[in-house]
This record gives sequence, C-alpha cells and structure tokens, in this order.
Amino acid sequence: MFKALMLDKQDDRTVASIQSIDESRLASSGNGGDVLVRVDFSTLNYKDGLAITGKVPVVRTWPMVPGIDFAGVVETSSHPEYKPGDAVVMNGWGAGETHWGGLAQKARVPGDHLIALPANITTRQAMAVGTAGYTAMLCVQALEKHGIGAKDGDVLVTGANGGVGSFAIAMLAKRGYRVIASTGRPEEAARLRELGAADIVERATLSEPGKPLQKERWAAAVDCVGSHTLANVCAGLRYGGAVAACGLAQGMDFPATVAPFILRGVALLGVDSVYVPRERRIAAWRAIADEVPVATIESVATAIPLADAPEVAQRLLRGEVKGRVIVDVNA
Ligand code: NDP
Repeated sequence: MFKALMLDKQDDRTVASIQSIDESRLASSGNGGDVLVRVDFSTLNYKDGLAITGKVPVVRTWPMVPGIDFAGVVETSSHPEYKPGDAVVMNGWGAGETHWGGLAQKARVPGDHLIALPANITTRQAMAVGTAGYTAMLCVQALEKHGIGAKDGDVLVTGANGGVGSFAIAMLAKRGYRVIASTGRPEEAARLRELGAADIVERATLSEPGKPLQKERWAAAVDCVGSHTLANVCAGLRYGGAVAACGLAQGMDFPATVAPFILRGVALLGVDSVYVPRERRIAAWRAIADEVPVATIESVATAIPLADAPEVAQRLLRGEVKGRVIVDVNA
C-alpha cells in the first residue's frame, strides 16, 4: 500500500482526498510503465492547481493521481536503462492528466519518460527546480540554438517573479546575459536583482495593446505571459532577435501583426516541456545541474506535506503563493 492524493469526480465536482492505494492498482493507472519509482518529492505547478481544484479540465480519466512531475528512486525496473536505486526525475508526458502522476509515494511509468538525475543534484533540489526551472532551461537553450549569444544585447524575461521567470533570470545571468525583468510586482525588485536581473520594467508597459513595430530594445526574450505582452515583446525585438514563448499567464491569445517577422526577421520559438524529445530533456537537466547554484535552487522553494496539497493548490490559483512549492509525499 502507498499514500496518494486522489482526485475523484462527484456530481461534476473534483474531490481531492488522501487515500491508501494498493500497489497493484498502478499497473492499471493508464501508462503501462516498466519502472516503479519510490517518489521522494513532487511539486505543485499551476497546472496541478487547475487539476486539483477542477477549475479547468486538466484531468482526462478518473480517478486520477495528479502531479505533472516527480523525483525519486527506482524500486523495480524491466527497462534496460534503469536499475533499483537509480535517482530519476520525470516531467510531463501527460502525468496527472491521462495517467497517474507524482503526488503519491509510488509511480509506475515507462522508463522512456524518465531522466537519470545527474549526480550533483538531489531529488529535493530537482523538484525545487521542477517543471518551471526545466522549462526555463528549455527556453534558454532554444534561444541559443537559434544563435542568440550574450553579446547580442539585453534579454527580457516576462512574468519574472513566477517559477519559470525566476529561473530564466538566474540561468541567463549565469551565462553572461544582461537580463531585464518584467514584473507586476515591483516590490520584489530586490529579489529579482539578486537572482541576476540588471534592470526591471513594469508589467503594465507591455500588457496593453501596442504598435505593431516599436523601438528595438531586446536581442531576445523569454515570455511566460502571452497575449498583448508577447505581441509587444515581438514588436520590440531587435532585427534578427528571438523570443522563446512558453506561457499564457496573461492570456492564450496572441494579438500581433506579422510586421516584426517580415520586416525585422525576428523569430517566435515555441517551447513545450510536456512532450519535448528525450535528448533535449537530458541536455536541459544536465545544464541545470551544472549551472544553477544550489543556493538559488534552495532560495525559491518551500516544502509542504502531501496532505496540505489541496489547500495550497487553492492558494496557488489565487496568486497567494510565492516561489516554488515542493511536496514531500512521505511527510
Ligand atoms: P507562475 O504562476 O509561477 O508565474 C506566472 C507569472 O506571470 C506571475 O508570477 C506574474 O509575474 C506573471 N503574471 C501573472 N498574471 C499575469 C497577468 N495577468 N498579466 C501579466 N503577467 C502576469 O507560473 P510559472 O512561472 O510556473 O509558469 C509561467 C507560465 O508558463 C504559465 O502560463 C504556465 O502555464 C506556463 N508553463 C508552460 C510550460 C510549457 O511546457 N510550455 C511549462 C511550465 C509552465 P510577476 O508577478 O513578476 O508579474
């Protein structure tokens, strides 16, 4: 038996409860996994908040163990790459949506969904980074693959105080970029500067409808916000610049014109963390383990016990949670 946060559908409502589950049920949890993992830590991402509260239909089958990411240790494996005792991390692949996820003491997943955790990062640190930090690294790597370098000019990060934004600032600064942080919480400016931001811009200067082409301000950007903000970011990129777009905190719409693309040759690079191919995941986790200082990782995270996850999920959606939330599934 193991402990899990379980979501059930009752009269069109999502009901969350901590349950004791027989391990045999993992075999029918939807993913036909060949690796059984003893989970150490999971996290609460925005998507988990939506699933646990039922605010948006994230969950596709019921009952469901939520949790889009986890880190732990292999207990049994018939996958050639994993053996008992290996430390692993998992992000996405539909965990907590189409099959049981990480907010439980055990998870059974296909080995192809796992990444061996680099030796210099613990399972707790991996979840402090979580899907947010891993997505931030995918964004940084997408910009560099496009040819952006530290000497090209300023890089803007929108949604700077969020999980993705905070890690993107730290990662870019560590690689030598001059980072400009856009935030709606200027009272957090000192924290953003500590993470590596050289300057701060007010979120409101980017979130309203703007001109299709604006002053060329940024060589590149990481956008966590979408909507008018992403349109303004594109309009303010320098000739040949690029934006890695990963989020929709302002909205899913993209009210832009083609002007920046056809007159300045700027590039819009979409970043998805859920189904990104394995080689890119491995490269992202390698870079995270090598580059992100442990102090940065520790500074963004608070740990909660599994039983608190439903209440903290509500607060997360109300915007009352700062930084990253690690869930200690064994507490
Ligand atoms: P957080 O909730 O931690 O942060 C989002 C940040 O966006 C907030 O801290 C805030 O930053 C800013 N923000 C919030 N509301 C608005 C608004 N109405 N207008 C403008 N800015 C706003 O989320 P994450 O950092 O974890 O994720 C960021 C985005 O990326 C989310 O939309 C998430 O769904 C998406 N995401 C996508 C992934 C992918 O695979 N593509 C993976 C992970 C996340 P501030 O207070 O500094 O203004």
